Amino acid sequence: MTSAHTIEEIPVTTLASGHRLALTVHTLTGAQEGPRMVLFGGIHGDEPLGSETVRRVLSAVDPAELTGTIVAVPVANPYAHQALTRNTPLDGVNINRIFPGNASGSVTEQVAAALCGILAGADHFIDFHSGGNFATVEYAYIHDAGAEMSRAYGCSLLYHGAPYGGSATGWALDQGIRCMVSELGGGGQRIDEYLTKGVDGTMNVLRTVGMLPGEPTPPPADQVVVETLTVLSPATGGVMLSDFGVDRIGERVPEGTVLGRVLSPYTFEELEVITAPFEPSILVLGRESMTNVAPGDYGFMVADGATAKPA
Ligand SMILES: [Zn+2]
Repeated sequence: MTSAHTIEEIPVTTLASGHRLALTVHTLTGAQEGPRMVLFGGIHGDEPLGSETVRRVLSAVDPAELTGTIVAVPVANPYAHQALTRNTPLDGVNINRIFPGNASGSVTEQVAAALCGILAGADHFIDFHSGGNFATVEYAYIHDAGAEMSRAYGCSLLYHGAPYGGSATGWALDQGIRCMVSELGGGGQRIDEYLTKGVDGTMNVLRTVGMLPGEPTPPPADQVVVETLTVLSPATGGVMLSDFGVDRIGERVPEGTVLGRVLSPYTFEELEVITAPFEPSILVLGRESMTNVAPGDYGFMVADGATAKPA
């Protein structure tokens, strides 16, 4: 086989504006035949760190050293990426709840269907997510199919939970594809550190599954798997005041610890207090000292420390 890096446009649909929506797909063909690894960045448009991680991974891999093929979609949801929003503004849909999509559906349903066409037949899949515009997160999912990928990725906290219904990962697992979801960074905090972690982690996954030469680095000694991970969403919108930003991620705090308070920016009254529900609670997603929140946002995420076991 001749190694190569090619870029192609996969047509999705034509909008009423006349704009032709396409997905840009990179293919790194290795010098030796082998497995097919698919990478998605930017499934959620407010998580651009994943797109940049994919770009850096593709420039870090030498196709002459690669066994198999890497197929990457750095911007998997272009209209959400443009708007920096989790849901696609054109139809209001969260693409990661409607897989496998519908080739004659709304714009986002058609993008999902096109992404499934790219994923079909893969051996491995990594979906790169992040904490959105205001929150910072640090963990990876660990699924029974692909567990070796998650351990090798190197996060200290791995979550052994079912994927969300309608997620790209849920669909891929149903097809027998070995999967991992990365949740790194966001909120504009420690960008370079999380990009490095994502690229180094992915290179280690590629070594672990035999697509790159060299001995994989062992997982960190403090790596644990948790069975319970909860999103703490405020029921009210306003200003969130927090002492639990990126410096506190990974910390274990006692049940009842106040993580944040939602204040009304209008009357200044305290609308809501967000507290840690587990004994102990491991902080997985945090917010800097002052951020905006809307009802139902990812306020904080905490894992149940009592379920934590060595990976
Ligand atoms: Zn996401």
